Amino acid sequence: MYDVIVSGAGPSGSRCAEVVAKAGYKVALIEKDIHYRKPCGGGVPRASIYKYYPQLKKVDLHEIHGISLCSADYHKVEYIYQNLAVYPKTVDRLEFDNILREIAVEAGAEIFDKNTSIDFITEKGRKVGIQTKTASGLKNYHGEIVIIADGMSSKLAPRSGLRGKWKIEQLGLGRAAILEGKSNLDPQMTYFYFKPYGYSWIFPLSEKRFNIGSITYFENNLKYNVNTAFKEFLVDLQEKGLLTETSYREIWSANFPEPASGVLEKNLSGDNIILVGDAGGFVAPISGEGIHAAIVTGNIAGETCIEALEKEDYSAKMLKKFTKHPTIKKIIRTFKFQRGFVNFFYEKEGENLNKLFRLAEKDENFKQDVINTFIMGMTPPKDFLLRIKNSN
Ligand SMILES: Cc1cc2nc3c(=O)[nH]c(=O)nc-3n(C[C@H](O)[C@H](O)[C@H](O)COP(=O)(O)OP(=O)(O)OC[C@H]3O[C@@H](n4cnc5c(N)ncnc54)[C@H](O)[C@@H]3O)c2cc1C
Repeated sequence: MYDVIVSGAGPSGSRCAEVVAKAGYKVALIEKDIHYRKPCGGGVPRASIYKYYPQLKKVDLHEIHGISLCSADYHKVEYIYQNLAVYPKTVDRLEFDNILREIAVEAGAEIFDKNTSIDFITEKGRKVGIQTKTASGLKNYHGEIVIIADGMSSKLAPRSGLRGKWKIEQLGLGRAAILEGKSNLDPQMTYFYFKPYGYSWIFPLSEKRFNIGSITYFENNLKYNVNTAFKEFLVDLQEKGLLTETSYREIWSANFPEPASGVLEKNLSGDNIILVGDAGGFVAPISGEGIHAAIVTGNIAGETCIEALEKEDYSAKMLKKFTKHPTIKKIIRTFKFQRGFVNFFYEKEGENLNKLFRLAEKDENFKQDVINTFIMGMTPPKDFLLRIKNSN
């Protein structure tokens, strides 16, 4: 019997497990496979991650000093971060996720690897735990609260009654790879290329290694094939001379979706359940960034669990405090706003995006607004869209 069962030891689950265990409660952290590398670009641009994980300051993560954004018609905005106390990072998720898991275990959480959560255990209409599949058969874990943190492919989230399965038009469909070889990339820059289908990226991980990927968005998932987009992106970079080798050593590659259409606000918690991270839809619609939101939502879910455990109240009303938390409300508001933007940007094969880049090349203040909106996750000024619409 556990106080809290966390299904999924990605960034959201590990953070939640750590917070609850640190308060002295019994936590089971259930993970399908700790050797699995979550398909991801591994871009961690937000310095506030160190607020949650000061331990990361001692870890040698690859540092980024600038960012290059490029439109489909090859207009470019470059930005060099100035005098930051902490610079953005790029990470290999295999290594990064295991660091966060170790921190949760050090705080007192018990991790159960090679356990795939498949369903809830229900008694008298109440979800009292979860059932997992392991090599040696089915296992039952009982707990007062279940945190669903097992990402996009969660089996529990659609079974929770809180939400259905994602539709293809609500998703980003990504292909990512880690390649090794010589290039003309600046290892301290990250590169984004906005395309009519979504965007492609290249994030150096060291002098010789980089994460490269493409993602198609929403309705474009039905019009474009992400594997073709990825191949064409690679060839394009080779033709432009940014990638100088004809073939690269592939360290890893995978396809995976992300819930980029925003959070299902009304469906984040119920009687003794909370959905966090990707399982709840916490991915920024413009940048596709979700690691930071996963950590923040995991943290707040952990704090909500502690309050519920102190009061011995695991009701939907009590756990709704998660959704009502000012930070969660702010994230939901920002993502909703960004979703509207994405529709505008990708109208007419991305013409508005091209206009945005042309304008940013000419106007330094507008360029800063673009960086703040796309990279810092900030809300742009009111006339932002109008200026794009009225430009050539
Ligand atoms: C192609 C792509 C590129 C991306 N690039 C970036 C980026 O550069 N920067 C960024 O910030 N975000 C990026 N994201 C989004 C980011 O990867 C996610 O938002 C983030 O990983 C969410 O964290 P999480 O803990 O909620 O879920 P996850 O990271 O998905 O973790 C879920 C965990 O649960 C485990 N699990 C899954 N199913 C089960 C089960 N049934 N039972 C037990 N365990 C289970 C998994 O093994 C995993 O460890 C990208 C996403 C994609 C698809």
